[in-house]
Amino acid sequence: MSTTTIVIFGISGDLARRKLIPALFNLFQKDRLEGNFNIVGFAGRSWTDQELKKIAREGIDKFAGYPVDNEKWREFENKLHYISGKFQDENAFVLLANTLENLENGSANRIFYLATPPGFFTDIIVNLGKTGQIEEENGWRRVVIEKPFGTDLESAKKLNHDILKVLREDQIYRIDHYLGKETVQNILIARFANTIFEPVWNRNYISNVQITVAEKVGLEHRAGYYDTVGVVRDMFQNHLLQLMSLVAMEPPASHKANDQRDEKVKVLKAVRKFTPEEVRKYSVLGQYRGYKEEDGVSENSQTPTYAAIQFFIDNWRWQGVPFYLRSGKMLTGKMSEIVIQFKCPPHLMFPLPEDYKFTSNTLSLCLQPDEGIHLKFETKVPDTIAETKSVDLEYHYENVFGQNSIPEAYERLLLDALLGDAALFTRSDRSELAWEILDPIISTWQNADENPLAIYEQGSWGPEEADRLLQKQGNAWIRGCGNH
Ligand code: NDP
Repeated sequence: MSTTTIVIFGISGDLARRKLIPALFNLFQKDRLEGNFNIVGFAGRSWTDQELKKIAREGIDKFAGYPVDNEKWREFENKLHYISGKFQDENAFVLLANTLENLENGSANRIFYLATPPGFFTDIIVNLGKTGQIEEENGWRRVVIEKPFGTDLESAKKLNHDILKVLREDQIYRIDHYLGKETVQNILIARFANTIFEPVWNRNYISNVQITVAEKVGLEHRAGYYDTVGVVRDMFQNHLLQLMSLVAMEPPASHKANDQRDEKVKVLKAVRKFTPEEVRKYSVLGQYRGYKEEDGVSENSQTPTYAAIQFFIDNWRWQGVPFYLRSGKMLTGKMSEIVIQFKCPPHLMFPLPEDYKFTSNTLSLCLQPDEGIHLKFETKVPDTIAETKSVDLEYHYENVFGQNSIPEAYERLLLDALLGDAALFTRSDRSELAWEILDPIISTWQNADENPLAIYEQGSWGPEEADRLLQKQGNAWIRGCGNH
Protein backbone atom coordinates (compact mmCIF):
# COMPACT_ATOMS: atom_id res chain seq x y z
CA MET A 1 0.00 0.00 0.00
CA SER A 2 1.38 3.43 -0.90
CA THR A 3 2.20 6.01 1.74
CA THR A 4 1.47 9.70 1.27
CA THR A 5 2.30 12.63 3.48
CA ILE A 6 0.48 15.94 3.22
CA VAL A 7 2.52 18.76 4.74
CA ILE A 8 0.56 21.95 5.34
CA PHE A 9 2.67 25.04 5.89
CA GLY A 10 0.53 27.58 7.76
CA ILE A 11 -1.71 24.97 9.39
CA SER A 12 -2.53 27.31 12.28
CA GLY A 13 -3.98 29.88 9.86
CA ASP A 14 -7.47 30.73 8.74
CA LEU A 15 -7.47 28.86 5.42
CA ALA A 16 -6.33 25.58 6.98
CA ARG A 17 -8.92 25.75 9.74
CA ARG A 18 -11.85 26.81 7.57
CA LYS A 19 -11.15 24.94 4.34
CA LEU A 20 -8.20 22.57 4.13
CA ILE A 21 -8.70 20.40 7.21
CA PRO A 22 -12.49 20.12 6.72
CA ALA A 23 -11.88 19.18 3.06
CA LEU A 24 -9.27 16.55 3.94
CA PHE A 25 -11.46 15.05 6.64
CA ASN A 26 -14.44 14.83 4.31
CA LEU A 27 -12.29 13.10 1.68
CA PHE A 28 -11.25 10.65 4.40
CA GLN A 29 -14.87 10.09 5.47
CA LYS A 30 -15.76 9.36 1.85
CA ASP A 31 -12.86 6.87 1.61
CA ARG A 32 -11.21 8.97 -1.08
CA LEU A 33 -7.79 9.10 0.64
CA GLU A 34 -6.21 5.82 -0.27
CA GLY A 35 -3.29 4.04 1.38
CA ASN A 36 -1.40 5.14 4.47
CA PHE A 37 -1.27 8.84 4.93
CA ASN A 38 -0.24 11.45 7.44
CA ILE A 39 -0.92 15.15 7.69
CA VAL A 40 1.92 17.18 9.10
CA GLY A 41 1.24 20.80 9.98
CA PHE A 42 4.03 23.35 10.14
CA ALA A 43 3.59 26.89 11.51
CA GLY A 44 5.13 29.44 13.83
CA ARG A 45 3.23 29.03 17.10
CA SER A 46 4.27 26.40 19.60
CA TRP A 47 1.31 24.02 19.45
CA THR A 48 1.42 20.37 20.46
CA ASP A 49 -0.12 17.62 18.31
CA GLN A 50 -3.00 17.64 20.79
CA GLU A 51 -3.68 21.33 20.28
CA LEU A 52 -3.70 20.88 16.52
CA LYS A 53 -6.22 18.05 16.82
CA LYS A 54 -8.47 20.13 19.06
CA ILE A 55 -8.42 23.19 16.75
CA ALA A 56 -8.87 20.98 13.69
CA ARG A 57 -12.01 19.40 15.16
CA GLU A 58 -13.38 22.79 16.21
CA GLY A 59 -12.83 24.03 12.65
CA ILE A 60 -14.71 21.06 11.21
CA ASP A 61 -17.62 21.51 13.62
CA LYS A 62 -17.83 25.22 12.85
CA PHE A 63 -17.16 25.42 9.12
CA ALA A 64 -17.63 22.06 7.43
CA GLY A 65 -21.40 21.85 7.19
CA TYR A 66 -21.48 18.04 6.84
CA PRO A 67 -22.19 15.37 9.45
CA VAL A 68 -19.12 14.01 11.23
CA ASP A 69 -18.63 10.29 11.77
CA ASN A 70 -16.91 10.26 15.19
CA GLU A 71 -15.27 6.91 14.64
CA LYS A 72 -13.75 8.20 11.41
CA TRP A 73 -12.66 11.33 13.23
CA ARG A 74 -10.74 9.30 15.84
CA GLU A 75 -8.96 7.47 13.05
CA PHE A 76 -8.26 10.74 11.23
CA GLU A 77 -6.93 12.67 14.22
CA ASN A 78 -4.25 10.03 14.75
CA LYS A 79 -2.83 11.08 11.41
CA LEU A 80 -2.40 14.74 12.44
CA HIS A 81 1.04 15.91 13.56
CA TYR A 82 2.45 19.35 14.27
CA ILE A 83 5.88 20.94 13.92
CA SER A 84 6.63 24.43 15.17
CA GLY A 85 9.20 26.39 13.19
CA LYS A 86 9.89 29.46 11.12
CA PHE A 87 9.70 29.35 7.33
CA GLN A 88 13.00 31.20 7.06
CA ASP A 89 14.84 28.78 9.35
CA GLU A 90 16.63 25.98 7.49
CA ASN A 91 17.07 24.02 10.74
CA ALA A 92 13.31 23.77 11.12
CA PHE A 93 13.23 22.09 7.70
CA VAL A 94 15.84 19.58 8.83
CA LEU A 95 13.54 18.78 11.74
CA LEU A 96 10.67 18.45 9.26
CA ALA A 97 12.66 16.09 7.04
CA ASN A 98 13.55 13.88 10.01
CA THR A 99 9.96 13.84 11.27
CA LEU A 100 8.68 12.80 7.83
CA GLU A 101 11.23 10.02 7.51
CA ASN A 102 10.27 8.63 10.90
CA LEU A 103 6.56 8.76 10.12
CA GLU A 104 6.88 7.28 6.65
CA ASN A 105 9.40 4.60 7.47
CA GLY A 106 10.27 3.95 3.81
CA SER A 107 9.27 5.28 0.42
CA ALA A 108 6.42 7.78 0.34
CA ASN A 109 4.83 10.45 -1.82
CA ARG A 110 4.67 13.97 -0.48
CA ILE A 111 2.51 17.03 -1.06
CA PHE A 112 3.67 20.31 0.38
CA TYR A 113 0.77 22.77 0.65
CA LEU A 114 1.79 26.41 1.05
CA ALA A 115 -1.14 27.97 2.96
CA THR A 116 1.01 30.87 4.01
CA PRO A 117 1.40 34.57 3.38
CA PRO A 118 2.72 34.81 -0.21
CA GLY A 119 5.94 36.50 0.91
CA PHE A 120 7.10 33.08 2.20
CA PHE A 121 6.49 30.96 -0.92
CA THR A 122 10.08 31.22 -2.15
CA ASP A 123 11.69 30.80 1.31
CA ILE A 124 9.77 27.59 1.91
CA ILE A 125 10.51 26.08 -1.49
CA VAL A 126 14.19 27.00 -1.27
CA ASN A 127 14.43 25.45 2.20
CA LEU A 128 12.67 22.30 1.02
CA GLY A 129 15.21 22.12 -1.81
CA LYS A 130 18.20 22.72 0.47
CA THR A 131 17.13 19.95 2.83
CA GLY A 132 16.67 17.44 0.01
CA GLN A 133 12.90 17.18 0.34
CA ILE A 134 12.10 17.80 -3.32
CA GLU A 135 14.15 14.87 -4.59
CA GLU A 136 11.98 12.10 -5.97
CA GLU A 137 14.06 9.02 -5.20
CA ASN A 138 11.46 7.55 -2.85
CA GLY A 139 8.20 8.83 -4.35
CA TRP A 140 6.80 11.89 -6.05
CA ARG A 141 6.99 15.42 -4.62
CA ARG A 142 4.39 18.09 -5.40
CA VAL A 143 3.95 21.64 -4.14
CA VAL A 144 0.59 23.39 -3.96
CA ILE A 145 0.84 27.18 -3.89
CA GLU A 146 -1.99 29.39 -2.68
CA LYS A 147 -2.97 32.64 -4.28
CA PRO A 148 -1.97 35.40 -4.87
CA PHE A 149 0.75 34.42 -7.30
CA GLY A 150 2.66 37.71 -7.52
CA THR A 151 1.27 41.21 -7.45
CA ASP A 152 2.18 42.20 -11.02
CA LEU A 153 3.96 40.75 -14.04
CA GLU A 154 7.43 41.43 -12.71
CA SER A 155 6.83 39.81 -9.32
CA ALA A 156 5.07 36.81 -10.88
CA LYS A 157 7.99 36.30 -13.25
CA LYS A 158 10.45 36.51 -10.38
CA LEU A 159 8.44 34.06 -8.30
CA ASN A 160 8.24 31.63 -11.22
CA HIS A 161 11.94 32.05 -11.88
CA ASP A 162 12.89 31.44 -8.23
CA ILE A 163 10.72 28.39 -7.67
CA LEU A 164 11.54 26.83 -11.02
CA LYS A 165 15.17 26.70 -9.89
CA VAL A 166 14.04 24.13 -7.32
CA LEU A 167 10.96 22.50 -8.85
CA ARG A 168 9.89 21.28 -12.27
CA GLU A 169 6.74 22.94 -13.64
CA ASP A 170 4.85 19.65 -13.40
CA GLN A 171 5.52 19.52 -9.64
CA ILE A 172 3.84 22.92 -9.10
CA TYR A 173 0.09 23.23 -8.46
CA ARG A 174 -0.87 26.93 -8.36
CA ILE A 175 -4.32 27.08 -6.81
CA ASP A 176 -7.29 29.08 -7.97
CA HIS A 177 -10.01 27.62 -5.78
CA TYR A 178 -12.67 28.91 -8.19
CA LEU A 179 -11.65 26.21 -10.65
CA GLY A 180 -12.47 23.59 -8.02
CA LYS A 181 -16.09 24.68 -7.86
CA GLU A 182 -18.48 22.14 -9.29
CA THR A 183 -20.39 24.75 -11.30
CA VAL A 184 -17.20 26.13 -12.81
CA GLN A 185 -16.14 22.66 -13.96
CA ASN A 186 -19.60 22.31 -15.44
CA ILE A 187 -18.90 25.14 -17.91
CA LEU A 188 -16.81 22.76 -20.01
CA ILE A 189 -19.39 19.99 -19.68
CA ALA A 190 -22.19 22.35 -20.76
CA ARG A 191 -20.15 23.51 -23.73
CA PHE A 192 -18.50 20.32 -24.88
CA ALA A 193 -20.75 17.46 -23.74
CA ASN A 194 -23.67 18.95 -25.65
CA THR A 195 -24.02 19.74 -29.32
CA ILE A 196 -26.73 22.38 -29.07
CA PHE A 197 -24.59 25.23 -27.77
CA GLU A 198 -21.40 24.98 -29.79
CA PRO A 199 -22.84 26.04 -33.21
CA VAL A 200 -24.11 29.32 -31.74
CA TRP A 201 -21.15 29.93 -29.41
CA ASN A 202 -19.52 32.67 -31.43
CA ARG A 203 -19.70 36.23 -32.76
CA ASN A 204 -22.45 35.36 -35.24
CA TYR A 205 -25.00 34.66 -32.52
CA ILE A 206 -23.65 36.09 -29.26
CA SER A 207 -24.08 39.79 -28.58
CA ASN A 208 -22.05 39.99 -25.38
CA VAL A 209 -20.89 37.97 -22.38
CA GLN A 210 -21.26 39.18 -18.80
CA ILE A 211 -19.45 37.71 -15.83
CA THR A 212 -20.31 38.85 -12.32
CA VAL A 213 -18.70 37.78 -9.07
CA ALA A 214 -20.37 39.86 -6.38
CA GLU A 215 -19.60 39.86 -2.67
CA LYS A 216 -21.94 41.10 -0.01
CA VAL A 217 -19.21 41.30 2.60
CA GLY A 218 -16.53 43.92 3.05
CA LEU A 219 -13.05 43.48 4.44
CA GLU A 220 -13.73 40.90 7.17
CA HIS A 221 -10.58 41.74 9.19
CA ARG A 222 -8.40 41.46 6.07
CA ALA A 223 -7.94 45.22 5.62
CA GLY A 224 -4.15 45.09 5.93
CA TYR A 225 -3.96 42.62 3.07
CA TYR A 226 -6.80 43.92 0.94
CA ASP A 227 -5.78 47.58 1.02
CA THR A 228 -2.49 46.68 -0.67
CA VAL A 229 -4.21 44.49 -3.24
CA GLY A 230 -7.66 45.65 -4.36
CA VAL A 231 -10.28 43.94 -6.45
CA VAL A 232 -8.39 43.63 -9.73
CA ARG A 233 -5.53 41.68 -8.21
CA ASP A 234 -7.73 39.82 -5.74
CA MET A 235 -10.51 38.70 -8.11
CA PHE A 236 -9.73 39.41 -11.77
CA GLN A 237 -6.19 38.05 -12.05
CA ASN A 238 -7.42 34.62 -11.10
CA HIS A 239 -11.16 33.95 -10.81
CA LEU A 240 -12.73 36.27 -13.38
CA LEU A 241 -10.15 35.79 -16.12
CA GLN A 242 -10.34 32.04 -15.53
CA LEU A 243 -14.10 32.12 -15.99
CA MET A 244 -13.71 34.18 -19.16
CA SER A 245 -11.18 31.66 -20.51
CA LEU A 246 -13.57 28.77 -19.87
CA VAL A 247 -16.35 30.54 -21.77
CA ALA A 248 -14.14 31.64 -24.64
CA MET A 249 -11.70 28.75 -25.17
CA GLU A 250 -11.72 26.40 -28.14
CA PRO A 251 -12.53 22.73 -27.45
CA PRO A 252 -9.37 21.11 -26.06
CA ALA A 253 -8.05 17.98 -27.76
CA SER A 254 -8.52 16.02 -24.53
CA HIS A 255 -9.35 16.41 -20.86
CA LYS A 256 -5.62 16.22 -20.02
CA ALA A 257 -4.23 19.13 -18.00
CA ASN A 258 -1.97 20.59 -20.64
CA ASP A 259 -4.50 20.32 -23.45
CA GLN A 260 -6.97 22.31 -21.37
CA ARG A 261 -4.37 24.77 -20.16
CA ASP A 262 -3.04 25.36 -23.70
CA GLU A 263 -6.50 26.45 -24.83
CA LYS A 264 -6.98 28.76 -21.85
CA VAL A 265 -3.62 30.35 -22.50
CA LYS A 266 -4.58 30.96 -26.16
CA VAL A 267 -7.58 32.99 -24.98
CA LEU A 268 -5.43 35.22 -22.80
CA LYS A 269 -2.97 35.70 -25.65
CA ALA A 270 -5.86 37.01 -27.77
CA VAL A 271 -7.11 39.45 -25.11
CA ARG A 272 -6.43 43.03 -26.21
CA LYS A 273 -3.84 44.76 -24.03
CA PHE A 274 -5.02 48.28 -23.27
CA THR A 275 -3.29 51.62 -23.65
CA PRO A 276 -3.99 54.06 -20.77
CA GLU A 277 -6.59 55.73 -22.98
CA GLU A 278 -8.34 52.42 -23.60
CA VAL A 279 -8.19 51.64 -19.88
CA ARG A 280 -10.15 54.83 -19.20
CA LYS A 281 -12.62 54.01 -21.94
CA TYR A 282 -13.25 50.37 -21.09
CA SER A 283 -12.98 50.12 -17.31
CA VAL A 284 -14.62 51.58 -14.24
CA LEU A 285 -12.97 51.11 -10.87
CA GLY A 286 -14.76 52.11 -7.72
CA GLN A 287 -14.68 52.17 -3.96
CA TYR A 288 -17.59 51.73 -1.60
CA ARG A 289 -18.56 54.72 0.49
CA GLY A 290 -16.98 54.39 3.92
CA TYR A 291 -14.09 52.18 2.79
CA LYS A 292 -11.44 54.72 3.84
CA GLU A 293 -12.90 54.83 7.35
CA GLU A 294 -12.52 51.05 7.83
CA ASP A 295 -9.95 49.91 10.42
CA GLY A 296 -6.60 49.22 8.80
CA VAL A 297 -7.32 51.17 5.58
CA SER A 298 -5.16 54.17 4.77
CA GLU A 299 -7.10 57.43 4.80
CA ASN A 300 -6.02 58.32 1.25
CA SER A 301 -6.49 54.82 -0.09
CA GLN A 302 -6.87 54.55 -3.86
CA THR A 303 -7.60 50.82 -3.56
CA PRO A 304 -10.54 49.74 -5.74
CA THR A 305 -13.16 47.55 -4.10
CA TYR A 306 -15.15 47.31 -7.35
CA ALA A 307 -14.24 46.97 -11.00
CA ALA A 308 -16.17 46.57 -14.23
CA ILE A 309 -13.96 45.94 -17.23
CA GLN A 310 -14.82 45.34 -20.85
CA PHE A 311 -12.40 42.94 -22.51
CA PHE A 312 -11.96 42.17 -26.19
CA ILE A 313 -10.82 38.81 -27.47
CA ASP A 314 -9.23 39.40 -30.84
CA ASN A 315 -9.72 36.10 -32.64
CA TRP A 316 -12.10 34.65 -35.22
CA ARG A 317 -14.64 33.37 -32.75
CA TRP A 318 -14.99 36.49 -30.63
CA GLN A 319 -14.05 39.52 -32.70
CA GLY A 320 -16.41 42.37 -31.76
CA VAL A 321 -18.10 40.57 -28.84
CA PRO A 322 -17.66 42.51 -25.60
CA PHE A 323 -16.85 40.49 -22.49
CA TYR A 324 -18.02 42.55 -19.50
CA LEU A 325 -16.50 41.39 -16.22
CA ARG A 326 -17.40 42.89 -12.86
CA SER A 327 -16.70 42.16 -9.23
CA GLY A 328 -16.96 44.09 -6.02
CA LYS A 329 -17.35 44.11 -2.29
CA MET A 330 -20.28 45.37 -0.23
CA LEU A 331 -22.73 44.80 -3.06
CA THR A 332 -26.41 43.87 -2.83
CA GLY A 333 -25.80 40.15 -2.59
CA LYS A 334 -23.30 37.33 -2.91
CA MET A 335 -23.59 35.76 -6.32
CA SER A 336 -21.51 34.56 -9.24
CA GLU A 337 -22.96 34.12 -12.67
CA ILE A 338 -22.12 34.14 -16.34
CA VAL A 339 -24.71 35.48 -18.75
CA ILE A 340 -24.40 34.85 -22.45
CA GLN A 341 -26.65 37.31 -24.24
CA PHE A 342 -27.59 36.30 -27.76
CA LYS A 343 -28.34 38.67 -30.63
CA CYS A 344 -31.89 39.75 -31.47
CA PRO A 345 -33.54 38.02 -34.43
CA PRO A 346 -32.40 39.66 -37.68
CA HIS A 347 -35.97 40.27 -38.87
CA LEU A 348 -39.20 40.46 -36.91
CA MET A 349 -42.18 39.34 -38.97
CA PHE A 350 -44.77 39.76 -36.22
CA PRO A 351 -47.49 42.41 -36.25
CA LEU A 352 -46.13 44.36 -33.30
CA PRO A 353 -45.91 48.07 -32.53
CA GLU A 354 -42.82 49.72 -34.00
CA ASP A 355 -41.34 50.45 -30.57
CA TYR A 356 -42.00 46.91 -29.28
CA LYS A 357 -39.03 45.76 -27.20
CA PHE A 358 -37.96 42.19 -27.81
CA THR A 359 -35.79 40.62 -25.17
CA SER A 360 -32.94 38.66 -26.65
CA ASN A 361 -32.23 35.13 -25.46
CA THR A 362 -29.85 34.60 -22.58
CA LEU A 363 -28.12 31.53 -21.29
CA SER A 364 -27.09 31.99 -17.66
CA LEU A 365 -24.62 29.78 -15.88
CA CYS A 366 -25.45 30.20 -12.21
CA LEU A 367 -22.28 29.45 -10.26
CA GLN A 368 -23.62 30.39 -6.83
CA PRO A 369 -25.70 30.60 -4.70
CA ASP A 370 -28.58 28.84 -6.52
CA GLU A 371 -26.40 26.65 -8.71
CA GLY A 372 -27.77 25.77 -12.12
CA ILE A 373 -28.34 26.88 -15.69
CA HIS A 374 -31.18 29.07 -16.98
CA LEU A 375 -32.17 29.60 -20.59
CA LYS A 376 -34.41 32.57 -21.30
CA PHE A 377 -36.42 32.59 -24.50
CA GLU A 378 -39.52 34.22 -25.93
CA THR A 379 -42.95 32.65 -25.99
CA LYS A 380 -46.33 33.81 -27.21
CA VAL A 381 -48.70 35.28 -24.65
CA PRO A 382 -51.91 33.26 -24.96
CA ASP A 383 -54.92 34.98 -26.42
CA THR A 384 -52.91 37.69 -28.20
CA ILE A 385 -52.01 37.87 -31.87
CA ALA A 386 -48.26 37.85 -31.39
CA GLU A 387 -47.37 39.42 -28.09
CA THR A 388 -44.31 37.80 -26.53
CA LYS A 389 -43.07 37.11 -23.03
CA SER A 390 -39.66 35.98 -21.83
CA VAL A 391 -39.72 32.70 -19.97
CA ASP A 392 -37.01 30.66 -18.29
CA LEU A 393 -36.06 27.02 -18.66
CA GLU A 394 -34.34 26.35 -15.38
CA TYR A 395 -32.03 23.63 -14.16
CA HIS A 396 -31.23 23.71 -10.45
CA TYR A 397 -28.62 21.35 -9.03
CA GLU A 398 -30.61 21.00 -5.85
CA ASN A 399 -33.71 19.69 -7.66
CA VAL A 400 -31.75 17.09 -9.59
CA PHE A 401 -28.99 16.02 -7.21
CA GLY A 402 -30.50 16.96 -3.85
CA GLN A 403 -29.33 19.28 -1.13
CA ASN A 404 -25.63 19.41 -0.27
CA SER A 405 -24.69 17.55 -3.45
CA ILE A 406 -21.99 20.10 -4.28
CA PRO A 407 -18.68 19.44 -2.55
CA GLU A 408 -16.36 22.13 -1.28
CA ALA A 409 -13.94 23.25 -4.02
CA TYR A 410 -10.91 22.38 -1.90
CA GLU A 411 -11.91 18.70 -1.79
CA ARG A 412 -11.69 18.45 -5.57
CA LEU A 413 -8.43 20.38 -5.70
CA LEU A 414 -6.70 18.42 -2.94
CA LEU A 415 -7.78 15.17 -4.50
CA ASP A 416 -6.60 16.24 -7.96
CA ALA A 417 -3.22 17.28 -6.56
CA LEU A 418 -2.94 13.85 -4.90
CA LEU A 419 -3.88 12.17 -8.18
CA GLY A 420 -1.44 14.30 -10.17
CA ASP A 421 -4.11 15.96 -12.31
CA ALA A 422 -3.17 19.61 -12.79
CA ALA A 423 -6.05 20.58 -15.11
CA LEU A 424 -7.66 22.79 -12.45
CA PHE A 425 -4.39 24.48 -11.51
CA THR A 426 -2.66 27.42 -13.12
CA ARG A 427 0.43 27.04 -15.28
CA SER A 428 3.24 29.61 -15.09
CA ASP A 429 2.56 31.10 -18.54
CA ARG A 430 -1.10 31.64 -17.68
CA SER A 431 -0.36 33.52 -14.48
CA GLU A 432 2.09 35.80 -16.29
CA LEU A 433 -0.29 36.48 -19.20
CA ALA A 434 -3.04 37.45 -16.79
CA TRP A 435 -0.75 40.04 -15.20
CA GLU A 436 0.23 41.32 -18.62
CA ILE A 437 -3.44 42.08 -19.30
CA LEU A 438 -4.13 43.64 -15.91
CA ASP A 439 -0.94 45.59 -15.16
CA PRO A 440 -1.88 48.55 -17.44
CA ILE A 441 -5.35 48.70 -15.87
CA ILE A 442 -3.99 48.67 -12.33
CA SER A 443 -1.30 51.25 -13.02
CA THR A 444 -3.59 53.65 -14.91
CA TRP A 445 -6.09 53.69 -12.06
CA GLN A 446 -3.40 54.23 -9.46
CA ASN A 447 -3.18 57.84 -10.59
CA ALA A 448 -5.87 59.27 -8.32
CA ASP A 449 -5.72 62.80 -9.75
CA GLU A 450 -6.38 61.74 -13.33
CA ASN A 451 -8.64 58.79 -12.53
CA PRO A 452 -10.58 59.21 -9.30
CA LEU A 453 -12.36 56.02 -8.24
CA ALA A 454 -16.14 55.98 -8.69
CA ILE A 455 -17.81 55.96 -5.28
CA TYR A 456 -20.73 53.57 -4.81
CA GLU A 457 -23.18 52.98 -2.01
CA GLN A 458 -22.88 49.92 0.21
CA GLY A 459 -25.60 47.41 -0.67
CA SER A 460 -25.90 48.68 -4.27
CA TRP A 461 -24.85 46.98 -7.51
CA GLY A 462 -21.81 49.24 -7.85
CA PRO A 463 -21.25 52.69 -9.34
CA GLU A 464 -23.52 54.15 -12.02
CA GLU A 465 -20.48 54.63 -14.22
CA ALA A 466 -20.40 50.83 -14.60
CA ASP A 467 -23.95 50.88 -15.97
CA ARG A 468 -22.97 53.61 -18.42
CA LEU A 469 -20.04 51.52 -19.64
CA LEU A 470 -22.59 49.09 -21.11
CA GLN A 471 -25.22 51.68 -22.02
CA LYS A 472 -22.75 53.36 -24.36
CA GLN A 473 -22.93 50.21 -26.46
CA GLY A 474 -26.66 49.69 -26.13
CA ASN A 475 -26.28 46.99 -23.48
CA ALA A 476 -27.20 46.65 -19.83
CA TRP A 477 -26.16 44.41 -16.96
CA ILE A 478 -28.42 41.37 -16.81
CA ARG A 479 -29.13 39.24 -13.77
CA GLY A 480 -29.81 35.90 -15.31
CA CYS A 481 -30.10 33.66 -12.27
CA GLY A 482 -33.15 34.87 -10.41
CA ASN A 483 -34.05 37.96 -8.48
CA HIS A 484 -31.18 39.17 -6.37
P1 NDP B 1 -3.22 33.41 8.08
O1 NDP B 1 -2.53 34.71 8.33
O2 NDP B 1 -4.48 33.12 8.81
O3 NDP B 1 -2.21 32.22 8.40
C1 NDP B 1 -0.86 32.30 8.09
C2 NDP B 1 -0.16 31.05 8.53
O4 NDP B 1 1.23 31.18 8.25
C3 NDP B 1 -0.28 30.77 10.01
O5 NDP B 1 -0.33 29.39 10.21
C4 NDP B 1 1.03 31.32 10.57
O6 NDP B 1 1.45 30.61 11.70
C5 NDP B 1 1.97 30.97 9.46
N1 NDP B 1 3.15 31.85 9.43
C6 NDP B 1 3.21 33.16 9.09
N2 NDP B 1 4.48 33.59 9.13
C7 NDP B 1 5.24 32.52 9.51
C8 NDP B 1 6.63 32.30 9.68
N3 NDP B 1 7.51 33.26 9.46
N4 NDP B 1 7.04 31.07 10.04
C9 NDP B 1 6.14 30.07 10.26
N5 NDP B 1 4.82 30.22 10.11
C10 NDP B 1 4.38 31.42 9.73
O7 NDP B 1 -3.43 33.31 6.51
P2 NDP B 1 -4.59 32.54 5.72
O8 NDP B 1 -4.71 31.17 6.24
O9 NDP B 1 -5.79 33.40 5.68
O10 NDP B 1 -4.01 32.53 4.22
C11 NDP B 1 -2.96 31.66 3.84
C12 NDP B 1 -2.82 31.73 2.32
O11 NDP B 1 -4.03 31.31 1.72
C13 NDP B 1 -2.56 33.13 1.78
O12 NDP B 1 -1.71 33.03 0.66
C14 NDP B 1 -3.94 33.59 1.35
O13 NDP B 1 -3.87 34.55 0.31
C15 NDP B 1 -4.53 32.29 0.83
N6 NDP B 1 -6.00 32.26 0.86
C16 NDP B 1 -6.68 32.36 2.03
C17 NDP B 1 -8.05 32.30 2.04
C18 NDP B 1 -8.81 32.35 3.32
O14 NDP B 1 -10.03 32.17 3.25
N7 NDP B 1 -8.20 32.58 4.45
C19 NDP B 1 -8.83 32.15 0.79
C20 NDP B 1 -8.01 32.02 -0.38
C21 NDP B 1 -6.65 32.08 -0.33
P3 NDP B 1 1.57 31.24 13.17
O15 NDP B 1 0.52 32.29 13.26
O16 NDP B 1 1.35 30.07 14.05
O17 NDP B 1 2.96 31.78 13.20
